[in-house]
Amino acid sequence: MTRINFNLKLCSISILTIFSLNSWAQEQAEFIFEQISENVYRAANNSHRTALLLTEEGVILADPINAGFATRLKQEIAERFGVPVRFVLYSHHHWDHASGGAVFADTATFVGHENMLTQLALPSAGTPLPRGAVDLDADGNGQIERAEAEGAYASNFDLYDYDSNGSLSGAEATRGPLNEVRKPDITYAEKMSVTLGGKTVEMVFTGVHTHTDDMSVIVFSEDRVGFMVDFISIQRPPRFIQGDQPIETWIEGIEIVEAQAFDTAVGGHGNYAEANFVTLFREYIEKLRDQVAAGIAAGQSNEQLQEAIHMEEYADWIS
Ligand SMILES: [Zn+2]
Repeated sequence: MTRINFNLKLCSISILTIFSLNSWAQEQAEFIFEQISENVYRAANNSHRTALLLTEEGVILADPINAGFATRLKQEIAERFGVPVRFVLYSHHHWDHASGGAVFADTATFVGHENMLTQLALPSAGTPLPRGAVDLDADGNGQIERAEAEGAYASNFDLYDYDSNGSLSGAEATRGPLNEVRKPDITYAEKMSVTLGGKTVEMVFTGVHTHTDDMSVIVFSEDRVGFMVDFISIQRPPRFIQGDQPIETWIEGIEIVEAQAFDTAVGGHGNYAEANFVTLFREYIEKLRDQVAAGIAAGQSNEQLQEAIHMEEYADWIS
């Protein structure tokens, strides 16, 4: 579920996505593997997608998604191509895209933006329980014991419990369910090229305020395919945007993606389509911003804005 909040004071828009982690876990895993260009393939696990490049020396894979999917994908790649995965390139640190990389650790080198390391590290010991966890702390001891956990904390308790001691500290609850995300071996700051078997994949940092602060767009250069996750949706309205996000830096991040050399845009969710759908997505954000600004100027409240703005011209996009 996605809720759009209009922050009247800051004249900015933030979009909060309320994850239904339980429903993801309960879905029957659907595995899809399809060729989308000469050497690039797309693989899907339920609503999550990744992309990979086949070379004579092995595979360069984007997000591993999770351990079950990665195991299935490793088998599929071995059977189809008889080559190992040599690189795993992370779009960003979020557990629902970045988990399960350990499956490929016997043959692969892992690459991500340098801010991934900070995101995967445990915050300092004195970190208080985050807002959503405070109410669960029935005994008021500053920890969420397994019996107190509800929602995502309950369904992913072991992925939160960094030290496996059966209770979540403020630091663990703040860090998130990241225990199955393997750290990158190599990090970069602005741009990085990964080459294998005579082919190149570019990773480009999209700026500090695009969904997370460690977001990369991944471009398979020879096949002119771009892979982008969560802060750009292909043929669908914005989703999976967490927390407060300045809209202008979000747009700047999309423009960085638009400046890359690719003809086909593959989303971490949803469709793949011609690259101009990235531009259409930016225009959606800009139109939404402008309508909100006009409403604010006319003195409308948050509720009135949410009631009034429908973006009908995008009704044929996936909801
Ligand atoms: Zn994400």
